[in-house]
Amino acid sequence: MTPNILVVEDEDSLATLLQYNLEKEGYSVSLASDGEDALIQADERLPDLVVLDWMLPKVSGIEVCRRLRQRAETRNVPIIMLTARGEETDRIRGLDTGADDYVIKPFSMTELTARIRAVLRRLRPGLAEDRVRFGDIVVDRVAHRVKRAGRDVHLGPTEFRLLDYFMQHPGRVFSREQLLDAVWGSDVYVEARTVDVHVGRLRKALNIDAAVDPIRTVRSAGYALDLES
Ligand code: CA
Repeated sequence: MTPNILVVEDEDSLATLLQYNLEKEGYSVSLASDGEDALIQADERLPDLVVLDWMLPKVSGIEVCRRLRQRAETRNVPIIMLTARGEETDRIRGLDTGADDYVIKPFSMTELTARIRAVLRRLRPGLAEDRVRFGDIVVDRVAHRVKRAGRDVHLGPTEFRLLDYFMQHPGRVFSREQLLDAVWGSDVYVEARTVDVHVGRLRKALNIDAAVDPIRTVRSAGYALDLES
């Protein structure tokens, strides 16, 4: 799964440079040139990480950060702030407001991509790795194989994507609509009930022998991957 990075930067040349280099690193990149646009885009498509410039037209970077942290859907999105040299107090405030890291301009691409990898590894371990583990479930993204307690689990492509998505956010409850957008894509028309069908298949495939059911159904809310219950 390709991590999607939202780059919020009003300097066109820097935005283009960031997009070029991040795409070369294998990320998919969306650009926003002001704070208002950033909030709209984050709302339409949940980014896996936001690279957020401090000084922005309309809504400042710090305000964008604050608002992303206030909303339930975007509360946990990793944010890396870009600040100019000399904004020391601002930098500290930036971290208080909820940025996960900051990079001081001018910076090298090597530095920024290293920070992005570090933040993703720390906050979204399921995204950065080729192989993800949750409890006794292991998903190998390169080989497209799933094992539970050492035994092979055979999944169809949709169930595989569904499990992969759940593994990126263990414990978090997703509505059917959120799962549709993330796994099927928001431009595809699929009925919400289809989600139930595929979750059912995934659950059946994962529940070998008397293993604990890893998928929790939350009445009128949706589903979560959870081994605690
Ligand atoms: Ca700027």
